[in-house]
Amino acid sequence: MDIKTFAELDLSPKVQAAIDAAGYKTPTPIQSEAIPIAVAGRDVLGIAQTGTGKTASFVLPMITRLETGRARARMPRSLILAPTRELAAQVAQSFEKYGVNHKLNLALLIGGVSFDDQNRKLDRGVDVLIATPGRLLDHFQRGKLMLMGVEILVIDEADRMLDMGFIPDIEKICKLLPPRRQTLFFSATMPPEVTRLVNQFLTNPQRIEVTPPATAANTITQRFRFCNSGEDWAKREILRELIGSQNVRNAIIFCNRKVDVAILHKSLVKHGFSAGALHGDMDQKSRMETLDKFRSGDLMLLAASDVAARGLDIPDVSHIFNFDLPWQSDDYVHRIGRTGRAGKEGFSASLVTTEELKSLKDIEKMLGKAVKWIGDPPTDQDYADAGKKRRRGGRGTGRGTAPSGATPRDARSSDRGSSGRRGDRRGPAKRQESLPEPQQQHRAEKQRGEQDAQRATKPPRPQRTREQRAAATDGKQPKPARVRERSPQSSASGFTDNVPAFLRNPIRRPTKVANE
Ligand code: AMP
Repeated sequence: MDIKTFAELDLSPKVQAAIDAAGYKTPTPIQSEAIPIAVAGRDVLGIAQTGTGKTASFVLPMITRLETGRARARMPRSLILAPTRELAAQVAQSFEKYGVNHKLNLALLIGGVSFDDQNRKLDRGVDVLIATPGRLLDHFQRGKLMLMGVEILVIDEADRMLDMGFIPDIEKICKLLPPRRQTLFFSATMPPEVTRLVNQFLTNPQRIEVTPPATAANTITQRFRFCNSGEDWAKREILRELIGSQNVRNAIIFCNRKVDVAILHKSLVKHGFSAGALHGDMDQKSRMETLDKFRSGDLMLLAASDVAARGLDIPDVSHIFNFDLPWQSDDYVHRIGRTGRAGKEGFSASLVTTEELKSLKDIEKMLGKAVKWIGDPPTDQDYADAGKKRRRGGRGTGRGTAPSGATPRDARSSDRGSSGRRGDRRGPAKRQESLPEPQQQHRAEKQRGEQDAQRATKPPRPQRTREQRAAATDGKQPKPARVRERSPQSSASGFTDNVPAFLRNPIRRPTKVANE
């Protein structure tokens, strides 16, 4: 691929000035290829992951093209569809950064923000409308928006849209747009459903494929830690040990389920860590606040579900921890790809329970080599046991593994943002009726777990830092733990008030009570 200079990309002088101000010296490969084509008004199919500079590859030519013309009330001139609120908000930030020398009107239509504020912006006329598909259709159906003035459409992270069940919405939206428009389409991978969208809605697109930042994987030291017990309290203990043994500047800790993100977050805070949580059930305001605090260094640790793995621009994370191994090996790559960026050293450590040894095999297959262990590796017997163990009603050894027969995508917690109402109408609810029993049970657990997670993510009381705790107990005997009457079922994990209902009924209770 021929790398050009920014001066060769046909961008307007005002956009060039913004690039200089951003301190960018050379265009990335996707920018080099896509920008001149997009500036010329042609359709682009960009196969590129986050971290390749793909956002600027559509934002810069869009600003150049939108310099001429004026927005009319409720008729946006351009539309960008993003799968998550965070990604949409990040794209908006890019417009602010690269559009400093322009007076473009921007509106962000995402869940968790009031319709009234968004309507006021639309009424004023917007040059750039950035939206998640569900919220955009909500506005359209309320008659607050006309899409016939859209000259440029961007679909960002189309494969993630597919993961989240947004393809029917995208099709609906594309049919509401004028057929004579420019479409810039981005996806990290090209599954058949995404290819079908491209064939249906793009006109003679220029296909540009870039490989992910080439050396990312080589700069990441990947380690695995076998957790014999598999119980959550034991995993949390091991995680704390790992964090303590590493020189962690900042880290993302991934869990497979939202409910576990909430529980782990509480646990970390309780143990004096500066930690936040990020998952799809949190309201927009607290998600953005948490992300900002993490970016600025106010929070050292971020417990997250996979919604944070893709798309989010969190530069320069020193460590990734996988509290659960992801169900799909490509998610493993996305997760650890948050560290070791731009040639920097990165470190990832993944906890592995007996049940997860099967997923580990897939990861090893994908990496093309055996993984390296911290501490004792699993024995042959552990591998033999991996096939035998079954999911139990409680957490502990049975959790973190997709129920047998469930596809990973089905089993994966949905991080769809906005309204449950829309989510209820979608495919998954229909599919549920035909699921075999273990999967139905899993879904029921998940729903209960998610409701509990919402309760668990209520803003925590202000927590003391480690130093404050130390100061508070300095020279004093720590107060004896308050003994509280508990229901006989509620003590298993040590998180009496936050343990999801379904976890309070373990079939077998751990013999050891967490020392947390
Ligand atoms: P993206 O792939 O769009 O998420 O971009 C990843 C990161 O690269 C963002 O933090 C951008 O600010 C940064 N970036 C984009 N283009 C360039 C460039 N040409 N030179 C240096 N950094 C860039």
